[in-house]
Amino acid sequence: MNEYAIQLKNIVKCYKDGEQDHTVLNNVSLNVEPGEFVAIVGPSGSGKSTLLSIMGVLLSPDQGTIQIGDTCVSEKKQKEWTDIRREQIGFIFQNHQLLPFLTVEEQLKLVQNMSKNKEEISVKQLLESLGLDELANKYPSKMSGGQKQRVAIARAFMNDPQVILADEPTASLDGERGRQVVEMIRHETKKRNKAAIMVTHDERVLELVDTIYRLENGSLVREK
Ligand code: ADP
Ligand code: MG
Repeated sequence: MNEYAIQLKNIVKCYKDGEQDHTVLNNVSLNVEPGEFVAIVGPSGSGKSTLLSIMGVLLSPDQGTIQIGDTCVSEKKQKEWTDIRREQIGFIFQNHQLLPFLTVEEQLKLVQNMSKNKEEISVKQLLESLGLDELANKYPSKMSGGQKQRVAIARAFMNDPQVILADEPTASLDGERGRQVVEMIRHETKKRNKAAIMVTHDERVLELVDTIYRLENGSLVREK
């Protein structure tokens, strides 16, 4: 058993910029333990979303390896990536990305039906444990921004993934709601012993994470 929930080794990623190659990630390594809540900060365009996409098995690096639990992603064929994503990763986006025509309960059931870890958590239990049971039959259009983002967090934990990835989850919320959302990510990460990695611009929520890294000029530097 690997001691880390996710492990990146010497990741390199370049994009073509006209004729030239632009190196966005230059030998980035990162280990995150189960139960650890990590923030990644850095200027706009520094490669934070690129790094998160690589961790989420949405984008392949040019060099380097990714290990999620005991699965070495780099050794798997691309067609197996969908399964890895479905079973091992929970995504939280800047905008909740809930489906407008499904109730909260239906959104979570959909994720559950696609997952092999079906029996792990019941939709009702998860909503209850997150204090969201009163929203079970609501549609997104009838909920506030903070409520929608909290449902999106519930959805990310629904398939019992090892790794939670959040790209600027507070960007569309005010300070108070933003803090509640990050507190909820922290609480669930600890309770369920998952690894969470959050990209954020929001200095106010940094006191809620265990570890902070800054991504700048292609390198990841630990700040806390
Ligand atoms: P951040 O999330 O930190 O703002 P991104 O990872 O989105 O940064 O982007 C990092 C750099 O890579 C930027 O210069 C961006 O323009 C470039 N980039 C991102 N995605 C692509 C792509 N698909 N093709 C070419 N360049 C890209
Ligand atoms: Mg980004």
